Amino acid sequence: MEKIVLGSTGLEVTRLGFGGIPIQRVSETQAVDAVLHAINKGIDFFDTSRMYSTSEARIGKALKQTEKKVIIATKSMNRFADGIQKDIEVSLKNLQVDYIDIYQCHAVSSNDEYERVTRPGGALEGLRKAKEQGLIGHIGVTSHSLDLLEKIIDDGYFETIMVCLSFLEPAAKERIVPKAKDKGIGILAMKPFSGGVIEAPEVALKWVLSIPEILVLAGVEDKKLIDQNWHIFEGRYELSKEEQERLEAITKEYDKKFCRRCDYCLPCTAGIHIQMVLGMKSFVKRLGPQALKNMLILSLMKKAAECTECGECMTRCPYSLPIPDMIKENLAWVEEYKKNL
Ligand code: SF4
Ligand code: SF4
Repeated sequence: MEKIVLGSTGLEVTRLGFGGIPIQRVSETQAVDAVLHAINKGIDFFDTSRMYSTSEARIGKALKQTEKKVIIATKSMNRFADGIQKDIEVSLKNLQVDYIDIYQCHAVSSNDEYERVTRPGGALEGLRKAKEQGLIGHIGVTSHSLDLLEKIIDDGYFETIMVCLSFLEPAAKERIVPKAKDKGIGILAMKPFSGGVIEAPEVALKWVLSIPEILVLAGVEDKKLIDQNWHIFEGRYELSKEEQERLEAITKEYDKKFCRRCDYCLPCTAGIHIQMVLGMKSFVKRLGPQALKNMLILSLMKKAAECTECGECMTRCPYSLPIPDMIKENLAWVEEYKKNL
């Protein structure tokens, strides 16, 4: 089983890690079973978040039932020193540990937010204090913005970065991975299946695992899927002719209907966070009904309903996506989902 060292953190990890989003959508027993199954299989890196409702606590419950040591990463969207320190206390309690290996600033999406995180009194200061106090081991950041991640890597305040990477979103392979490696920053690759959009797990996982020295986080709640991903992880990553054709077909199919989260369409004249809204369907599918209690999601949806269809965003989208139609489609899908609960 292939292990890597996560940049200058010195943490040695199995290259296939566990993403903690989907364990929210099943029963607690199933979630705990899935975590234990993954640990027994050989997965030793677990990523979760204060944002993922029950996920931290479920991972915590599972960890209490095993002697095996794993690396824990979690994250918070609080952008202030005192706020993130309070979140660290909650995470420690939920996870039932006295130390968290990596604590990350979650989903830093713009220069303004990055500035808020890094200025005096910002979240970074709180994370540094927690590190001095021995509550956390390393400081990381997650972002969907490659422009911002380039700046983050240059500045070098964070020891790990988490970035979207799949064959539908391949840009980070050239833009982010080599740059982060040069700086000794650990690379966590999220969304290898593009948030569940790619329904060819073998092709998707092989593609991303073929990029050396990155930790791939696959979100799973089902033991069979864990076995399936593990089997792919232990195999060879070259794509067969058929798999390459499948990859090309999926890429073509989603060319004009998949948001690559680049944010070039912003600013929206109505203040809508476009990429978050376009990812809503896949997000709700992965979170399950919990998503509809999430204040951030509810406020994003409310705002999205204010789209005036002015079309300004479309003039800036490099992929010519029909953004207003896609917003409507996501809103309608969520309404339908609510009705069927
Ligand atoms: S079409 Fe909708 S999403 Fe696009 S800029 Fe106008 S209001 Fe914003
Ligand atoms: S809608 Fe287009 S420009 Fe906006 S984030 Fe998605 S891919 Fe990028």
